[in-house]
Amino acid sequence: MIPSVLPTYNRAPLSFVEGKGSWLIEADGRRFLDLGAGIAVNSLGHAHPDLVAALTGQANALWHVSNLYKIPAQQELADRLVDASFADTVFFTNSGTESCELAVKMARKYHYEKGAPERTTIITFDGSFHGRSSAGIAAAGSEKMVKGFGPLLPGFKHLKWGDHDALRAAAAEPDVGAILIEPVQGEGGIRPLPDQCLKGLRDLCDEHGILLILDEVQCGVGRTGKLFAHEWSGVTPDIMMVAKGIGGGFPLGAVLATENAAYGMTAGTHGSTYGGNPLACAVGNAVMKHVADDTFLAEVNRKGALLRQKLEGLVASHPDVFEHVRGAGLMLGIKCKCPNTDVVAAGYDQGVLTVPAGDNVLRLLPALNISDDDIDQAITRLDAAAAQIEKG
Ligand SMILES: *Cc1c(COP(=O)(O)O)cnc(C)c1O
Repeated sequence: MIPSVLPTYNRAPLSFVEGKGSWLIEADGRRFLDLGAGIAVNSLGHAHPDLVAALTGQANALWHVSNLYKIPAQQELADRLVDASFADTVFFTNSGTESCELAVKMARKYHYEKGAPERTTIITFDGSFHGRSSAGIAAAGSEKMVKGFGPLLPGFKHLKWGDHDALRAAAAEPDVGAILIEPVQGEGGIRPLPDQCLKGLRDLCDEHGILLILDEVQCGVGRTGKLFAHEWSGVTPDIMMVAKGIGGGFPLGAVLATENAAYGMTAGTHGSTYGGNPLACAVGNAVMKHVADDTFLAEVNRKGALLRQKLEGLVASHPDVFEHVRGAGLMLGIKCKCPNTDVVAAGYDQGVLTVPAGDNVLRLLPALNISDDDIDQAITRLDAAAAQIEKG
């Protein structure tokens, strides 16, 4: 008999009743160090007092009005994002895949309105992940995600990650309107795009009149030690997808764009019932107050470097389990020698939560405000998990 919850997830036999900072607690009191943070969502950890206050304060005042009316918290959050980024304008969604839907629509509408309606094709890359909606799966294009779900949304050209010749040839095609890429691939296995590649992509886009869309759903909002990951390269996109960390655990996403890229998005061209709802935006503002701050980001960088250095040591002492560390800031991956899912499972036994990713990588995406003590705990527990695997 089919379970009452549609069985699309492989769930671990764990369930939590409480979260505090970087810790999750089961009903029997067992504590787990959370290095996954809800897959890069709980950016300030669990039950951060400022987020709780923002949510409960808004809940006591007003939950929902729809976008028929002005929403002050939404306006405030848009202003914050515009002030802190390349963007001139913001649309709020509830998730990453909804941000993908709008990014695709916006790019196509731009070219349509600029007199090039044939420019509908969007170049994407293998190993990418852009969500599970029709545009998201068509964009990523992996067999695992699309098989059986056709006909797929047309207009995506999938290239091999790192194949510069294929990219240059594809970008010169007259039907191409945009390039969509994650500055650091998350699901694909914590694969950072080198800064010079992002610069090269920007130049290629400018040369051919193509829009650059960055998917910062996982790597954005402080995760890599800059507010947005592309800031490391010094270039800016035309359109950027955000979600996950911006809501700190409340469903919230956004599409940020330049005025030029948003040219076609006039009244009536897009909408969302819940997008930018007062509850979500109250929390989003509270997250941004913390994260869009140089002192906070300097700490993310310091902690990222500390965790990474300790992970290098861990890898060196378990050469049969681990291969190397990669990533940026507090978006780190350990390439494994044994199946990454074995390490995740051993972590459960040792009270530490990690997330598997593509390319046999173990993902570590802790809360951005994880303490130094908890970083030590992370190493102690991962060390025990690796030792458990070595014992067999
Ligand atoms: C998680 C993720 C998405 C999809 O976000 P949802 O909120 O699950 O729809 C899109 N892109 C990237 C890079 C992601 O990591």
